Amino acid sequence: MTIHKQSVRTFINGKIFTANLELPYASTMIVRDGSIAWIGEASDLENIEGDCVDLKGQRVLPGLIDAHMHPLWLANASTQIACTPPLVNSIADLIEQIRNSCQSNETGKWIEGWGYDEGKLSEGIAPTRWDLDEAAADIPIIISRTCTHIAVVNSKALELAGITRDTPDPPGGKIDRDQNGELTGILRENAKDLVHRIMPAKSLEENAASLAELGDFLLSHGITAITDLSSRTEPIDYLEMYQTAVEKGLNQRTVLYYLWDDLKDKPLLLRDKIKRENQIHIGGIKLFSDGSVSGKTAWVNPPFLGEEENYGIQTTTKEELLAAAKAAEQNDIQLVVHAMGEQAIELIIDTFYGKKGWLTDGPSIRIEHAAMPTPQAILRAAETGIAFVTQPIFVFAEIESYYKNLGFERTKETYPIPSMLEAGIKVAFSSDAPATAWADPVNPFVGIKSAVTRLAYDGADTGQKQRIDVITAIMLYTKSAQEITRIPHVGQLAVGNHADFIVLNQDILEISIDMIDTVLVQETYLAGNLVFQR
Ligand SMILES: [Zn+2]
Repeated sequence: MTIHKQSVRTFINGKIFTANLELPYASTMIVRDGSIAWIGEASDLENIEGDCVDLKGQRVLPGLIDAHMHPLWLANASTQIACTPPLVNSIADLIEQIRNSCQSNETGKWIEGWGYDEGKLSEGIAPTRWDLDEAAADIPIIISRTCTHIAVVNSKALELAGITRDTPDPPGGKIDRDQNGELTGILRENAKDLVHRIMPAKSLEENAASLAELGDFLLSHGITAITDLSSRTEPIDYLEMYQTAVEKGLNQRTVLYYLWDDLKDKPLLLRDKIKRENQIHIGGIKLFSDGSVSGKTAWVNPPFLGEEENYGIQTTTKEELLAAAKAAEQNDIQLVVHAMGEQAIELIIDTFYGKKGWLTDGPSIRIEHAAMPTPQAILRAAETGIAFVTQPIFVFAEIESYYKNLGFERTKETYPIPSMLEAGIKVAFSSDAPATAWADPVNPFVGIKSAVTRLAYDGADTGQKQRIDVITAIMLYTKSAQEITRIPHVGQLAVGNHADFIVLNQDILEISIDMIDTVLVQETYLAGNLVFQR
């Protein structure tokens, strides 16, 4: 045998699913300088080149791509109070958790929490400022709802933000008031910004360190490529923050999507920022067409169950969508729009129907979540080449809210993945972590199980007609996620691609589908290097 450079490795004895439909299965892979130089069956291999790594007959998949998430929020959530089961099952529990956290709290700091869902609280209602005041009256508190579109704050936080009975609702937001016009502390959509903007900001260095730490955790879930769907240009430029995170050890290939609100006034980006060969780059412009199903702020039609007048909230307009699309086109990046309800989805498709996209190697427009597209919307989105990026974990984790707000029959029609795929829409899976009521929201195997079984965490039926098979679910987390995020050379284990792959402790293609959420990632490789081992 010839002598090869140290940067060559041959992986043998794997049960590899490649996500490449031309060669879906293989056992052996030669990796040279981080890229796959050869892949196939051992019987066709001429020589073992470089180091030999035995994959021990375990199931191997391409590294997973989370096409829609919020890494900075997820990183910060770990330092906040988790207002989800098993710790918090009631408002009383929530008050106790806040009190515990006050004892260890430094002065001048805010108390922050995330993840409450009134559907899961035994009182069946959302906490108010009076509940939070009971926990601490002189320290400002903000608790984000699971959907992240709604927050509840205490009286101290309202006072610091200068919000009074007389403060008008900001455009695209709502300050809740009771029947006497008193503030309840609940702030919806853009009204949250009234508080967020006065909160002490963390430094770029602190955030970058949290992101690097999160990166290791994500590798343990097999996630080798990530996205940030709420990237800002100010006060911190996320591009710079993520680049700093890379210096601190962030390994993932990362695409950022700038919020339209930040770009509106100076939409032209430097060409350097959008270069997709860079580990960190800008992939699109993000805006919102509505809120969430669980928070009853999705812009729906018919209205929410039992509330004849409540069609949710519209948070953008045709003019705004067209302006953002123009900026996306000028920058050669995507237009990425959050839309859950029928009307929110309709508005986007109506605005762009029949128009030609500006990108040549992927969808120009993405609809995020796409919970409730009508059959007509699906057909028209397919014709226009609009992609859908959706989160199977939502209906799994938030089933109480879906049943309560939409009813059983309508819930079963949400996220109609088979219809989307049949129509020819490009679909990717993702987690939207931490924006869902699950203790480990970013775990891809929970999402895959939900899509394959269409059963919620408690066994409730979420729509058996919308089930897909395991292979399809994996494709939506790999090959299709690549086609939509446009990260170069990932998503399939094929010659020329980066050798980003994961080794599982169980064969996800063989085990019973109700066991999929117990699958653990044993090893994660990036560019052929072992970067995580359990
Ligand atoms: Zn999101």
